[in-house]
Amino acid sequence: MPNIVQRFKRHFLLLFIFGLIGTSCACVTQAAAGERQPLTVVLDSGHNPGQPGALGVRGVYEIVYNDNLTAKIADALRTAGFPVVLTRTPTQNISLDGRTQVANTSHADLFLAIHHDSAQPVYLDKVTRNEVVAYRSKKPLAGYSIFVSKLNPQFADSYHFAEIMGQEMLRLGRSPAMHHAENIPGENRELLNTTMGIYRFDDLIVLKKTNIPAVLLEVGVIVDPDDEHYVSSNGKQEAISQAIVSAVRAYDRFQSKKR
Ligand SMILES: [Zn+2]
Repeated sequence: MPNIVQRFKRHFLLLFIFGLIGTSCACVTQAAAGERQPLTVVLDSGHNPGQPGALGVRGVYEIVYNDNLTAKIADALRTAGFPVVLTRTPTQNISLDGRTQVANTSHADLFLAIHHDSAQPVYLDKVTRNEVVAYRSKKPLAGYSIFVSKLNPQFADSYHFAEIMGQEMLRLGRSPAMHHAENIPGENRELLNTTMGIYRFDDLIVLKKTNIPAVLLEVGVIVDPDDEHYVSSNGKQEAISQAIVSAVRAYDRFQSKKR
């Protein structure tokens, strides 16, 4: 009899232990299933090798600055745990609609276009340095600009991310560029936030045709010698990349509170 009692005790003890393990495993599984995935970011390096964008003060086309910085931002975001989708590699050409298709089919959460800025011809001098044609601004035009489109179906979130990124740019010591608001042909853009340099540009294809929140950042003005020097600095490029990671992290926290 004592043996039978002991066997029952052992049997129930084992059932109890396995029951506990089973319960805790289920909890772990549920916790894993409930974990929120980090935001996926689409990075769109502006322009194409065939049409390389603005020409800067050193005779270097904008696309070189865009591709260089986009690669650094992608590395920084991935290191911080955010998956990244690129609309194109440095050797690829892609249409504006193709960029929006990447954004709309990649199950991403945020679209960020990276550009470097120029100015209207009235503000530019054509110069030649070492037989290379370049453009230099007639007056200081330094600074970053952020563009959003009210035609984007997620304008409120686009604008929220623009504000966070504006804060990060200001924290870097950057100033917003104001020349897009000037009342001259080709500009006269509506400033939605003067302090943060956020402009409304409804008809930009990559902003209005993307279904996810979308923002375009003009990182700096490459026809302004001081600003071109700033955006060409490896250290400054790393700092800008980290500032964008901070902005994505803050936006991620904001989104997680909404869910
Ligand atoms: Zn551009």
